[in-house]
Amino acid sequence: MQRTEPARVLSNSVLVLNRFYMAVHVISARRAFIMLYSDTAEVIHLEEGHFANYDFATWCELSELHSEEPAPHDDWVQAVNFRIQVPRVIRLLAFDRAPRQSLRFNRRNLFARDNYSCQYCGGSFPTNQLSMDHVLPRSRGGETTWENIVCSCVKCNTKKGGRTPKEARMRLIRPPSKPSQNPLMALKMENPKYESWQAFLPKTG
Ligand SMILES: [Zn+2]
Repeated sequence: MQRTEPARVLSNSVLVLNRFYMAVHVISARRAFIMLYSDTAEVIHLEEGHFANYDFATWCELSELHSEEPAPHDDWVQAVNFRIQVPRVIRLLAFDRAPRQSLRFNRRNLFARDNYSCQYCGGSFPTNQLSMDHVLPRSRGGETTWENIVCSCVKCNTKKGGRTPKEARMRLIRPPSKPSQNPLMALKMENPKYESWQAFLPKTG
C-alpha cells in the first residue's frame, strides 16, 4: 500500500465519464471526492475484469474491505479513524456533458504533451520548474497556440529570451503541434495505476 501524504494522493488523476460512459475529462481526486460526497457522481470500479458502480456509502464499505488486502497500485486517503480508496474512474449522474470536441489549450495539457520535458535541453522537470515558451516570441507576433508554444525549463527560457530559436542558436527537440488526443489521458494510460481508464479511451498507437 502506498503511504504518501494526503495532498499528493488527492492530486491523483481521476477520469470522468458522462452518463453514457464516455470519457469527458480528467480531474483531481480531491474534486472527485467532493462530487462523490455530493452525489453528483458515482465510482466506476474495475475488479476481476468487471466494472461495478458505487455511490459514496458503498464505496466507503468497499474501501474498508479492500484495505484489509490492498492491491499494489491502490492509493488511499487516511482519515482519523478510516481509510478510503482513491477512485480511478467516476461517472457523472447529474447532467449530460458531451466530450469536449476540441482539446483545451492550457498548461496541464501542454506539459503533458511535451512529457514534462524541456523541448530545448531535453531535461525532465517538475511542473513548477517548467514554463511555456513562445517559439516565435510574442513581440514578433507569435501566437499562443499548440503550434507556437513549447515546454521549456527556466534556464533555457532565460537563455532564449525574446529571440527565435535560430537567433538564440537553440534547437527544438520536436516541432510543436496540436495533439490528436488528450495528452494527459494518453500519458496516464501508460501507468498501471490507471489501467481501468483503457476501457473508456481510444487506444493509443
Ligand atoms: Zn531546458
